[in-house]
Amino acid sequence: MLKGKSAIVTGSTSGIGLGIARSLAAKGANILLNGFGDPAEIEKIRQAIESEFGVKAAYNGADISKPEQIEAMVNQCVETFGAVDILVNNAGIQHTAAVEDFPQAKWDAILAINLSGVFWGIHYALPHMKAKGWGRVINIASVHGLIASKHKAAYVAAKHGVVGLSKVVALETAGTGVTCNTICPGWVLTPLVQKQIDDMAAREGITVAAAQEKLLKEKQPSGQFATPDQLGELAAFLASDAAAQMTGAALPMDGGWTSQ
Ligand code: NAD
Repeated sequence: MLKGKSAIVTGSTSGIGLGIARSLAAKGANILLNGFGDPAEIEKIRQAIESEFGVKAAYNGADISKPEQIEAMVNQCVETFGAVDILVNNAGIQHTAAVEDFPQAKWDAILAINLSGVFWGIHYALPHMKAKGWGRVINIASVHGLIASKHKAAYVAAKHGVVGLSKVVALETAGTGVTCNTICPGWVLTPLVQKQIDDMAAREGITVAAAQEKLLKEKQPSGQFATPDQLGELAAFLASDAAAQMTGAALPMDGGWTSQ
C-alpha cells in the first residue's frame, strides 16, 4: 500500500512512535527513525524493521526541540530515500505539576518538543510534499488536545496547539494532494504513562497494579489501554489513498474518554 513512500516518524525509538513506524513499514514504507536511547538498542530496532518488512530504515538523532536539527533530519530523509512523503510528528514529553508550581524549564521543554517541534517538522517537510503533489502529515496529539486534566498545563496547552496547527496546515494544503490530520490517543501503556502510574503508586502508597487500574478507571471507560499497534494501523490508514479526502480531522482513539 505504501511501497516506495518514505516516512519520518519522530520519537520512534519507543512506545507509540515505534508502533507507528512498524505499521508503516509493514505497508511497505521506508522509515527514518528518530528519538533518544541506547545506540545498540536503536540499531536493533532499525535492523528488525528492515529484516521483518523488507524496507529500508535509517536513523536520525535530531533533538526535536531544535529547529536546525529538524531541518537536517528532513534533508537526511530526502537524501537517503529521495523524498519525504509521510511525516509523523510523535515525539513528546510530559511533566505534571499544579500551575503555580510548574517549573519554567519543564514548560519551555514541553512547548518546544510537543508544539514547536511539530511546527518546524511541517515547515521543513511541506515544500517536498507539495513539489510531489502528495504528502501525509500525521500529528500525534492526545485526548489532551481536546479536553483537559489537572496538573498538565504545558501538555494540554501544547496538544491543543497541535490540533489548531493541524487545521491551519489542512487549509493551506487543501487540494494539493497533501493532508494533515491529528490522532488523539487516550491512555496507552508506554514508558511515558508507566512513569505516571509509578508516581501515583508511590504518592498513594498502593501497588503498581492498583495504580494502573485506578488510572484507567478515572478516565478511560473501556478500562483498557489502546496499543501502539492499534495507533499504528490508524496512522497507516491516514497515510493511505483511502484517506485522501480526510484532512484537518482530530481523531480520538481513547476507549470512550472524550465521550463522557
Ligand atoms: P515514550 O516516552 O514511550 O516515547 C517518546 C519518544 O519521543 C521516545 O522515542 C523519545 O526518545 C522521543 N523523544 C523525547 N524527547 C525527544 C526529543 N527532544 N527529540 C527527539 N525525540 C524525543 O512516549 P509515548 O507514550 O509513546 O508518547 C508518544 C507521543 O504520544 C507523545 O507525543 C505523547 O504525548 C503522545 N501520547 C501518549 C499517550 C499515552 O498514553 N502514552 C496518550 C496520548 C498521547
